[in-house]
Amino acid sequence: TSASPILEVNNIEVVYDHVILVLKGVSLTVPEGGIVALLGANGAGKTTTLKAVSNLLGAERGEVTKGSILLGGDEVQSLDPNELVRRGCIQVMEGRHCFGHLTVEENLLTGAFTRKDGAAAIRADLEMVYGYFPRLRERRRSLAGYTSGGEQQMCAIGRALMARPRVILLDEPSMGLAPQLVEEIFEIVAQLNRESGVSLLLAEQNTNIALRYATYGYILENGRVVLDGDAASLGSNEDVKEFYLGMS
Ligand code: ATP
Repeated sequence: TSASPILEVNNIEVVYDHVILVLKGVSLTVPEGGIVALLGANGAGKTTTLKAVSNLLGAERGEVTKGSILLGGDEVQSLDPNELVRRGCIQVMEGRHCFGHLTVEENLLTGAFTRKDGAAAIRADLEMVYGYFPRLRERRRSLAGYTSGGEQQMCAIGRALMARPRVILLDEPSMGLAPQLVEEIFEIVAQLNRESGVSLLLAEQNTNIALRYATYGYILENGRVVLDGDAASLGSNEDVKEFYLGMS
């Protein structure tokens, strides 16, 4: 028997300010243990989709007005964002959002705020994060605000890991980073996925790298999914690049 997908988004509409219809019926599925890429040009609706799932639209006067969102088979769309974290769904926001005035290690520890399993388990997970991101161990006593963009991205992912997620919604991890660092971060994320089984929904404008690491991809245009398919077939489809992603 096949298990429920970790995440299922069914035909959601999102409206900002009561009138601006931004998502016009978006559906997607993240299988347990999968890496799914959500692609599309600037403004296509990638961030809005992730925020709809993690219920973070309220702060921007957005709301899901239609459709449903299921986490491990359970409807979750009206749940408080912290409750979603407790259930294993966590978003790493675009622009990283580390606490600049806290050290790297303090930032990582803030990621464990929903846990009740005690200091030893949290300590062990801190070691696990440092195992994946040796640079974070080196920088653990530095104020996050004084670390590089790549280190801040690693810190944001590491902080998410401290919540023991089942699925991470990762918003444009490549943004503003040099290609070599982007590669390093994707390598680590792929290793995490293989070893811990954590699933990923990855919003990216950097289509090439996203399709190299993802198993499946969805292309958003103007608030709709215009194409989806195996990452390999999307990656080798010239029309995809030319018409939808402006990469010709
Ligand atoms: P980006 O790469 O810029 O993050 P994106 O694909 O993630 O692009 P969204 O940020 O989801 O796109 O934006 C989708 C559309 O919704 C855009 O047209 C944007 O102008 C609009 N939008 C986003 N946030 C708001 C808001 N708070 N109020 C009104 N419209 C918004």
